[in-house]
Amino acid sequence: MLVLRNDQTASGDQSFAAVSAPDRRRPDEPACDLIGVGFGPANLALAVALEEIPTQLPSVTARFIEQQASFSWQPGMLLAESRMQSVFLEDLVSNRNPQSRFSFTNYLKEHGRLVEFLNLRDFYPTRREFNDYLRWAAGHFSGQVVYSQHVMDIEPILESGKTTQLRIAVKDTRSASEAAYLARNLIVATGRLPFIPAGVETRQGNAILHSSEFAHRVPHRFPNRDAKYHFLIVGSGQSAADILYFLLREYPNAEISIVFRQFAFRRMDDSCFLNELFHPDLVSFIYELPKHKRSVFNETYDRTNYSVVDDRLLAAIYRLLYEERVLGRNRTNILGFCELLGARESSSGGARAEVLRLMSDEVITMNIDAVVLATGFTKPATHPLLASVDRYLMRDTQGKYQIGRDYRVLTTPDFVPAIFLQGGSEHTHGHGDAAIPLVSTRAAVIVASLSQASTEGGRLTHNAETIFG
Ligand SMILES: Cc1cc2nc3c(=O)[nH]c(=O)nc-3n(C[C@H](O)[C@H](O)[C@H](O)COP(=O)(O)OP(=O)(O)OC[C@H]3O[C@@H](n4cnc5c(N)ncnc54)[C@H](O)[C@@H]3O)c2cc1C
Repeated sequence: MLVLRNDQTASGDQSFAAVSAPDRRRPDEPACDLIGVGFGPANLALAVALEEIPTQLPSVTARFIEQQASFSWQPGMLLAESRMQSVFLEDLVSNRNPQSRFSFTNYLKEHGRLVEFLNLRDFYPTRREFNDYLRWAAGHFSGQVVYSQHVMDIEPILESGKTTQLRIAVKDTRSASEAAYLARNLIVATGRLPFIPAGVETRQGNAILHSSEFAHRVPHRFPNRDAKYHFLIVGSGQSAADILYFLLREYPNAEISIVFRQFAFRRMDDSCFLNELFHPDLVSFIYELPKHKRSVFNETYDRTNYSVVDDRLLAAIYRLLYEERVLGRNRTNILGFCELLGARESSSGGARAEVLRLMSDEVITMNIDAVVLATGFTKPATHPLLASVDRYLMRDTQGKYQIGRDYRVLTTPDFVPAIFLQGGSEHTHGHGDAAIPLVSTRAAVIVASLSQASTEGGRLTHNAETIFG
């Protein structure tokens, strides 16, 4: 078992000492063995794995840096009644260690709801409940996490011509003060960045927003639930459908338009055989495929993950719309075969959107109160936070990182720190990379990789050979 020194606090701990800006280049500043950037489900699962998995290492100092003020999972989409797409046993641990105290089942037991949950006869918790579970698990690691710190940059620190450590520059989200941490190894798990389609101008006016901000912004900007607002949703995936369902129920008089390129919403296929796409053992198979065959594999099964909606939600929306028609109401415009050409905020405070009808080539202009972009997330070839160490990171012919089976980015020989990516290796490890079902087993692979590292004076030290040799 790794012995984590998590009894020390961020402020008083010499091992994790935040380096104030003037001192930032001192190479002899105490560094910690491992810094995780972001503390969502991926790095939380890693914290659990570090605590649970037996290794030969004597002691590892680990620290996680999170920009939110406290743990919260996809908070902009924590809508009442939104459900998980993965089942409750696909939690932080159960795939790897069903006896773990960090399981969803143990969370239920500790909260006195185990029997009642079982009586629901439903494998899919609400996202609110799953978030509560994650927060409960995160609470066990509060000594290792610094919240309200936005990581701005990651820079190499050189010693005798080699990069031996990394400097992690942070800004406090409350005070705007800057500081830095030093790390010997890094795990980047920052999630994905919202995708804003071309032609869309987003400003701070709140009339055009991405789905990831929905719960923070829409209820505040549109407080009158009985008003006849006109909302436009863009997209046909799970978030678009979740938002449509929320608006239909919470704003009974609103007019709701939704545009997407395909004919209609498509159901997510999570049937038993196909769901083996998220089997932990498949990751190695995908990883070992020749690159072009891996791309074909990923493209073939893209539809299991993206631009699809949980079947039960589709049925619930259809039922709602039908019931409204029984009452003689029709306030929802589902505009399939349509593409958003552009949108901008108007001087009146609302927004103006141009939509192309793909079958007739007709362009329609819509004046609406808000545009919600449920347009998904970007998958850039390189991570913006790694720009300052980019010259050490090896890329493939498409400019994407070369990544080991252990999720470690391949680096030049003069770069000693290990950089692991959680969530940035779909091109090498398949679709499960972005999903919760594989966080527990991926964390175990990373811990196993870390445990192969040699130790110097009780400190974790990597070199390329220990990992790839
Ligand atoms: C609305 C929604 C619902 C989903 N539902 C499911 C589901 O039911 N089942 C499933 O399998 N998958 C689901 N997913 C997929 C999703 O990828 C995973 O649920 C999960 O969030 C991935 O965890 P993560 O830790 O990699 O990333 P995130 O959950 O995105 O966590 C990343 C963390 O890093 C922090 N961070 C980012 N940048 C910085 C920085 N510069 N400095 C400091 N901190 C930073 C963020 O604040 C965040 O807390 C869903 C995704 C969305 C958007």
